[in-house]
Amino acid sequence: MADESITRFETAGGARIYRLPMQVFPSLRAYAHLVIADDYVALIDVGSGQGESDGHLRAGFARVADEWGERVGWADLDRIVITHAHIDHHGGLNMVRGLSDAPIAIHELDRRVLVHYEERLALSRFRLGVFLHHAGVDDVRRTKLLNMYSGSKHLFHSVEVQDVLRDDDLLDGRFRIIHVPGHCPGQVCLQLDDVLFTADHVLPGVAVFLSPESLTAATGVDHFLQSLRKVKDRAGVRLALGGHDRPVHDLHEAVTKIETAQAGRIARIYDLCAEPHSVAELTSVLYPSVGAYDELLALQKVGAYIEYLDQRGRLAVANLDEVAENEASVPRYHAA
Ligand SMILES: [Zn+2]
Ligand SMILES: [Zn+2]
Repeated sequence: MADESITRFETAGGARIYRLPMQVFPSLRAYAHLVIADDYVALIDVGSGQGESDGHLRAGFARVADEWGERVGWADLDRIVITHAHIDHHGGLNMVRGLSDAPIAIHELDRRVLVHYEERLALSRFRLGVFLHHAGVDDVRRTKLLNMYSGSKHLFHSVEVQDVLRDDDLLDGRFRIIHVPGHCPGQVCLQLDDVLFTADHVLPGVAVFLSPESLTAATGVDHFLQSLRKVKDRAGVRLALGGHDRPVHDLHEAVTKIETAQAGRIARIYDLCAEPHSVAELTSVLYPSVGAYDELLALQKVGAYIEYLDQRGRLAVANLDEVAENEASVPRYHAA
């Protein structure tokens, strides 16, 4: 983007990293990372494919040559890695596939989103409908939120994936793969020498999006917290580069702050459960005036924290008789 320069980093092993800024949604910036080591060239994430994102990614390639004298083009790419199957990280694949034949790699748990996108969306919509009902969202509102959700159908069409990643793999003999489920089932961090690419796992200034495991396995608060512990004291990391937000120079400190913020959020929701509340009621207390899309995200976030507390036996259902008799009723949670 015109107002943000392309930053260059170098790993201890001499690989060059260019951080390419993109406006992935009107209110969200993201970064793709172009990595050049000897004659090997990899692109980590590709933006959303929406709005200006594709244009910013193409411009980023050109600017690496113009501003840094690095002669690299789309035809030089040896590898495309998608850190996780959220549209702001993989949506640009439809454009990129037209520019490069480089093999695409993604973790095995997120592969299905890329190769069966339409199917995932349909199944997610169904599960989301069930979740919203039990959260206590009325039918009119629920239909509106679900239609908005499926409105993103046309934004991506499925692509083939050539390589599947698993925890502790060494991709292309260079990137150590660290599986960090929570924000997304198949999210990975990648370590190259002393640099860790953290995707959306460690973002110092952003409250990461979490949804309940009841919607998608291997997401949710518990997986996220476990995955934070997995990277917190990772040996040999001098610099962490996320998919959004600023670079992190002290990973341990950044993760500690995120853990503290999470503990605060869990405590706040637990405190609110001194009185019985449905997920929808808690959401309207915590996020009183948000637009429809943010409301959908907020409901899932609150659902994730309620699930976390409930899994640990810290909540009880106040209207248990009603819920036991009628499966369509809305559970209202209070502190056990
Ligand atoms: Zn994400
Ligand atoms: Zn993201």
